[in-house]
Amino acid sequence: MPRLQNLLDGRRLVKSATPYHNERATLLALDANLGVTGLPQSATGQASLVTGRSVPAELGYHYGPKPNPDVAELIRSDNLFKQLRGRGRRAALLNAYPPRYFEAIQSGRRLYSAIPLAVTSAGIPLKTAGDLLAGEALSADFTNQGWRDHLGFSSAPLLAPEGAGERLADLAMDYDLAFYEVWLTDYAGHMQDMPRACEILKTIDRVLSGLLENWDDRQGLILITSDHGNLEDLSTRRHTNNPVPGLVIGDKGLRETFTSDLADIAGVTPAILRFFPSS
Ligand SMILES: [Zn+2]
Repeated sequence: MPRLQNLLDGRRLVKSATPYHNERATLLALDANLGVTGLPQSATGQASLVTGRSVPAELGYHYGPKPNPDVAELIRSDNLFKQLRGRGRRAALLNAYPPRYFEAIQSGRRLYSAIPLAVTSAGIPLKTAGDLLAGEALSADFTNQGWRDHLGFSSAPLLAPEGAGERLADLAMDYDLAFYEVWLTDYAGHMQDMPRACEILKTIDRVLSGLLENWDDRQGLILITSDHGNLEDLSTRRHTNNPVPGLVIGDKGLRETFTSDLADIAGVTPAILRFFPSS
């Protein structure tokens, strides 16, 4: 990951390198366990990211991958996207979803995962195939290859990872908060597939390259983080108790405000909302 290493002056994305600050980036190690034993899971982890509540601690357990009724209720009652809308701000989830996803949700065959649940419960529509083809959203694999090969969208333009990063930067400028969810890393972790994991990380590094080259640090912050560990340890097919990266990129003053109280994944929503006080 040459672009990431360059951003961190040669440091790697490991706990012993944290906390680290330079002219463009801050790297923190964020706790994803939230005081609850067992392995962090996606529903409670993502719910913590977008509610600002220590959801595993409130419920007494880690749960996932999809929200159970208790987790769903916490997400629906209030979340980052609802808060931003209530404060007159624009927020979006930049992932595009194919027609079959909406059909499965409508029919009840599929449950929302935590992030789309938070977004839709705030009244914000999910991005569609039309948005993807119009260049207003991104595919989960960044390049559209999966949409072309497996979802019947052979006319979807193939993006270079750097082009996807540029698109992330461009689209983010239309919003106060733009969220993009990456799950291929989790999938490769569960598969314990080292070649696949390396491919994904190489792709992400190229996306980061396009994103950073097109990002104006004075305009806003980029946060790269996770709901739990997994990919960093392929000796297990399960999640891990490791801290997750809190990699923040942008203007130094903005970063200092953002990270002043950031120690775990439940701190992310309050850190974001600090920039958007209620009127
Ligand atoms: Zn997982």
